[in-house]
Amino acid sequence: MKSEFRGFIIGVILSCILLSSVVFADGIGKKIDVVFNKVNITVNGGMVEGDNILFDGTTYVPLRKIAEMLDKEVGWDNSTNTASINDKNKTVNVLPLPIVSQNIKTDGVYVGTTQSDKYHKPTCRWAEKILKENEIWFDSKEEAQEKGYKPCGVCKP
Ligand SMILES: [Zn+2]
Repeated sequence: MKSEFRGFIIGVILSCILLSSVVFADGIGKKIDVVFNKVNITVNGGMVEGDNILFDGTTYVPLRKIAEMLDKEVGWDNSTNTASINDKNKTVNVLPLPIVSQNIKTDGVYVGTTQSDKYHKPTCRWAEKILKENEIWFDSKEEAQEKGYKPCGVCKP
């Protein structure tokens, strides 16, 4: 029963190959006789699930199964008809990284604006009018004054 089933599978595979040769029509398809290997294949000690096929002295194995067991990713490029085995996490991030200025803090004890030379307590009514993109934060009065900022006359920081 099992060998009949395998014979059926081989028939299906051969049909696929024959169909492929028709579909691609580029002469690469050819009818082959294959034998199911009675070979156990392991990757790093793990048994490869799925059949392997012996053809012309070479053992053929399921690409994706092996690749995944080797902790690789399988890619497929339809335009070039190419399967590939790739290292994981090699994807290039095409999004530009945000430009972070090291000179401008986004938080602190006192806040000023690039539009004036005054610094404020964050609760000051003038501080609340500062646009987010113009904010400059300081950790101390000294830091603010070192950078040329003067205390606001309203909130008296
Ligand atoms: Zn103020």
